[in-house]
Amino acid sequence: NPLVAGTSEPDERVLEAALRPKNLHDFVGQQRVREQLSLVLEAARIRERTSDHVLLSGPPGLGKTTLAMIVAAEMNAPLRISSGPAIQHAGDLAAILSSLAEGEVLFLDEIHRMSRPAEEMLYMAMEDFRVDIVVGKGAGATAIPLELPPFTLVGATTRAGLLPGPLRDRFGFTGHLEFYSISELELVLRRSAMLMDLKVNSAGFTEIASRSRGTPRIANRLLRRVRDWALVHRNEHIDATLASRALDMYEVDARGLDRLDRSVLHALCTKFGGGPVGLSTLAIAVGEETETVETVAEPFLVREGLLGRTPRGRIAMPDAWIHLGLTPPEDMPL
Ligand code: ATP
Repeated sequence: NPLVAGTSEPDERVLEAALRPKNLHDFVGQQRVREQLSLVLEAARIRERTSDHVLLSGPPGLGKTTLAMIVAAEMNAPLRISSGPAIQHAGDLAAILSSLAEGEVLFLDEIHRMSRPAEEMLYMAMEDFRVDIVVGKGAGATAIPLELPPFTLVGATTRAGLLPGPLRDRFGFTGHLEFYSISELELVLRRSAMLMDLKVNSAGFTEIASRSRGTPRIANRLLRRVRDWALVHRNEHIDATLASRALDMYEVDARGLDRLDRSVLHALCTKFGGGPVGLSTLAIAVGEETETVETVAEPFLVREGLLGRTPRGRIAMPDAWIHLGLTPPEDMPL
């Protein structure tokens, strides 16, 4: 078993890849997306065609890459992985598209970050399976049409709203991934613990799951940190006390908030009196990019009822003050 210490200890990336579910059946939670996607794939198999293009949206770490791999596996097709930031010129995209095999699944992560010309090339490729390669410049430029083999595009974005309408409309199926419940995360953790040969009791799983920010990737990462702690302290049995001690050390608090989440809330309460404050001002105050605050920290804080979005800006909810150990302003309804 390559996941068990003692052989050659694999690095974190190898471990993460090994923990990925390989089919829809092993994919925990996201029931609606799973059922819808399963239907799209089944229909494609019956029609003996490539599947419609699939767009997956949702905060990082909820399983978009994993689902793209599953789409390829379920269609028995090869998978090519690239990302929006890696495609800066239309030529970059043309090179990828022209080398796709028939039926191949192309996964484009962070698809909203692709350059404009590449995006326009993608429209035509998605719709008609062809691209125009422009050769030469200025008046002498000619467009050479190039037929592409049918392929399935799986696009991933942290927010579907970041995509231009014409691109969004070309996906036959859009699945929005939600944060996972604690019991779903417990299932993810049970599976990972089994693969890693760890002994964790029920309360231990619950403790790690409740600090995982509704995110399987974080759950698996925290499990590895708890495993380290147990290893160093020569404790084979992981329970809630051990898990919470280990996770306190890594600055993951009891509600799963990480350093960025806390600094956003802290700035909102202490620098802006609880808001309302504009998103970009808030991002500057915590030294992060607006998009990171908006797509990484904010969705979780909103779901937890700690941060509110109003037309005038972001506000700290009463729970945020309490969670940070601060006193809310007197006129705040509790
Ligand atoms: P990003 O957008 O940042 O690439 P992502 O949404 O694509 O993130 P993945 O890389 O697919 O996230 O998932 C992160 C890890 O979480 C994977 O290694 C996988 O093991 C685990 N994981 C994700 N979703 C599930 C799930 N539904 N069931 C079990 N494990 C999951």
